[in-house]
Amino acid sequence: MPSGDEGQLLPIPDPAESARLLGSANQAAAGEGFRSGFVALIGRPNVGKSTLLNQLVGQKVAITSPVAQTTRNRLRAILTTAGAQLVLLDTPGIHKPHHLLGERLVKTAKGAIGDVDVVLLLVDGSEPAGRGDGFIVELLRHCRAPVHVALNKHDLVDPAQAEALAASYREMLEGRGDFAGPTPAGQDPRPPLAWPLHPVSALTGAGTEALVGALAADLPEGPQLYPADAVSDQPEQLLMAELIREQVLSHTREEVPHSVAVSIDRVVDDGPRTAVLATVLVERASQKGILIGKGGRMLKTIGQGARLQMEKVFSGPVYLELFVKVVPGWRRSAARLAELGYRGE
Ligand code: GDP
Ligand code: MG
Repeated sequence: MPSGDEGQLLPIPDPAESARLLGSANQAAAGEGFRSGFVALIGRPNVGKSTLLNQLVGQKVAITSPVAQTTRNRLRAILTTAGAQLVLLDTPGIHKPHHLLGERLVKTAKGAIGDVDVVLLLVDGSEPAGRGDGFIVELLRHCRAPVHVALNKHDLVDPAQAEALAASYREMLEGRGDFAGPTPAGQDPRPPLAWPLHPVSALTGAGTEALVGALAADLPEGPQLYPADAVSDQPEQLLMAELIREQVLSHTREEVPHSVAVSIDRVVDDGPRTAVLATVLVERASQKGILIGKGGRMLKTIGQGARLQMEKVFSGPVYLELFVKVVPGWRRSAARLAELGYRGE
């Protein structure tokens, strides 16, 4: 990392302040020693990858939820500091695939590891290291890029426990303990890994400046790839669909979430207002019933929640009309998945 305020975040929502900071970021970009590149975020479902992305770029670019497997698309969030630009790839959590959609999630996540400059392995640092983490460490062991480990959810850690928790992750990386299963017969013992550990809280932002500084220091020297005020390269319609899906996830229980997809049917710029027509696809008639609710109340709540989020993200009034459609087995149909933008890459 060159000199300067490494890890300083640009407060995108405040135009005056960001204009001032953008000036300094652009000057740094023109000068010597600016760094830029791609950072892949890898981790089990629910460790806080999407929360961290939103925290880092200072606004909502990824949806989060207490339900695992929320993130389906590889999302790029862009973070520009005075000395570096990090293009962050949010990947679906790595887990055992159960059906076609699950397999694509894992493939996308693995694909992201191959072509990045730095890998950030995110773990739930409020719990000791476990076999799920060991599985990912073995996946990452032979990747070319340097790996950093963020011990997330540090806000939940009792200070008296912090050292013991961190020690369990060091133990995992050093190959002590039984995290990755026995070494196959005839193979040398796994060499210890010296990946740096960073305690952070994606929720409060604690520790994230130091983390960004460490990631930036491992990027190659290079120019700014995106404008300094860009926060995401995700198409607007995809983000709209994700905001609707987030409301479905937060207002319904397990019966619905994994079998829901959203398609944006039409977006009309209607003067100052944006009109959006969207369809929520479910697999069974019973799920349609749950989503619509008594007298349409559930759909109304979901629609209102999504509309408020869209108005925040796109800063303007939004008119949202939501439909629910039953498409049996959409998760298994490859053509349907491609149409909805879940590509295997
Ligand atoms: P992902 O599946 O890895 O993308 O995880 P999410 O970002 O969707 O987060 C999963 C859950 O963990 C959500 O309920 C978040 O609010 C919560 N979470 C994420 N980061 C933190 C953190 O630093 N502290 C606490 N207390 N909760 C967190
Ligand atoms: Mg996520």
